[in-house]
Amino acid sequence: MEVLNFVDGEFQKTAQVLENVAPGTGEVFGTIPRSGSKEVEKAMAAAKRAFPVWSNSSAVERAACLDRLADAVREHASVLAKHEAQDNGKPISLAAQVDIPRAEKNLRFYASGIQHFASKSHAMEGEAINYTLRKPLGVVACISPWNLPLYLFTWKVAPALAAGNCVVAKPSELTPVTAYLLSTWVRQAGFPDGVFNILHGLGPEVGEALVNHPDIAAVSFTGGTLTGARIASQVAPKFKKMSLELGGKNPAIIFDDADLEEALRMTLRSSFANQGQICLCGSRILIQRSVYDTFKLSLVAKASKMVAGDPLHPDTKLGAVVSEAHMQKIMSYIELAKDEGGQVLCGGHRLHPEGVEGGFYVAPTIIEGLGPQCRTNQEEIFGPVVTLQPFDTEEEALKLANDTAYGLAATLWTTNLKRAHRVAAGIESGMVWVNTWLLRDLRTPFGGVKDSGLGREGGFEALEFFTESQNICIKL
Ligand code: NAD
Repeated sequence: MEVLNFVDGEFQKTAQVLENVAPGTGEVFGTIPRSGSKEVEKAMAAAKRAFPVWSNSSAVERAACLDRLADAVREHASVLAKHEAQDNGKPISLAAQVDIPRAEKNLRFYASGIQHFASKSHAMEGEAINYTLRKPLGVVACISPWNLPLYLFTWKVAPALAAGNCVVAKPSELTPVTAYLLSTWVRQAGFPDGVFNILHGLGPEVGEALVNHPDIAAVSFTGGTLTGARIASQVAPKFKKMSLELGGKNPAIIFDDADLEEALRMTLRSSFANQGQICLCGSRILIQRSVYDTFKLSLVAKASKMVAGDPLHPDTKLGAVVSEAHMQKIMSYIELAKDEGGQVLCGGHRLHPEGVEGGFYVAPTIIEGLGPQCRTNQEEIFGPVVTLQPFDTEEEALKLANDTAYGLAATLWTTNLKRAHRVAAGIESGMVWVNTWLLRDLRTPFGGVKDSGLGREGGFEALEFFTESQNICIKL
């Protein structure tokens, strides 16, 4: 497939293209534009021209465009799922059950949300009345990663557009296809030309040109912590708004009073879903010593049975990781873990499923015997690799949980209600799940603390980010 840029309502090519590789097979299956500052200039100019009309349209009109785009996603859901699986390496069943329905839901959620987003008013006892407008910012940059391609792309562009901004968006160069397909329905959804532009290409080229453009009013970024730090250093001195959703090294804490069967079932998911490439995956599993061996043996037994296969096969539950380079990074962390003294309990090697031997597959890997301070337990691996650490007391569990630079999400398993509240509140993270994982209500704040990011997405928080408040005080 030839992916094209979408600027000012038109599809555009670039002088140079990049190859797009299918992680499931390791083969090139298409090209994507290699955009740079020239393309950014064009997209910014179109978005600026479109802003006065779009920002003055009614919330109802903007919602109707988003709803029609959601209709197109629903109508083409199976095609989108197929392309997401091919482009990313994730199992098609996951794309069909999670990624694509959620992309549709994101668009509908903010179509509805903007119609419930009211301005505030503060009366000053007979003297004056204040009301606070929330105004769109202008042209905003939305930059998204490869792990949940259309899911995270729509999670940003939906609130940005709903709030009346024009958007120049850049999906990951590793997974551009579903965003490109989305762009083919933007006009029929009724968005005026220039309101929603999508550029493809490399982060350090087109991404960097975009965040550094003087007319960008805000940057909404999801990706790695190092990239986030670089973007922050460029955007902050210009006093532009930014929202940064970054990496994690999330703990899953299993207390001995937990429903261990359910904890086991969900920990297997939170460790290896999407090949461990979800920012919310639990990668440090902390287990109370009294149940450590039982839990460990059951988890290893289950993980060892996971079979990788062609992402496009409907029965596949474990697909490929996103790229050869990422696979090498994951493998190098497994080597590092061994060097650091870790024992690999299962996995630790590549897989070559029949028929797709050239793809990038890594066996689910569980490692024990590592201290909390080693690099394996401190750095984000972002693959199907988890470590196990025992603990004795609640205090120790909390200390281990908080002992990284990251603070995105945490999961804890206990049937003790007091403990659940106590430990949840003590965890330094933006989100905590108790006796579940990845149960999402789109109204709730989403984001991390410490090196996991800045700001929150979700619900009205995203609409607040994509608008600026203006207070108007009228003397009575
Ligand atoms: P990445 O930082 O390499 O890239 C993310 C996006 O930024 C891509 O579109 C990329 O092209 C672009 N980019 C790269 N360099 C840039 C630059 N200098 N200027 C502007 N844009 C640039 O991240 P990735 O490898 O695509 O994604 C994996 C990371 O994303 C992991 O660390 C994961 O934890 C994180 N993530 C976080 C969340 C969250 O909500 N907190 C969600 C998903 C993924």
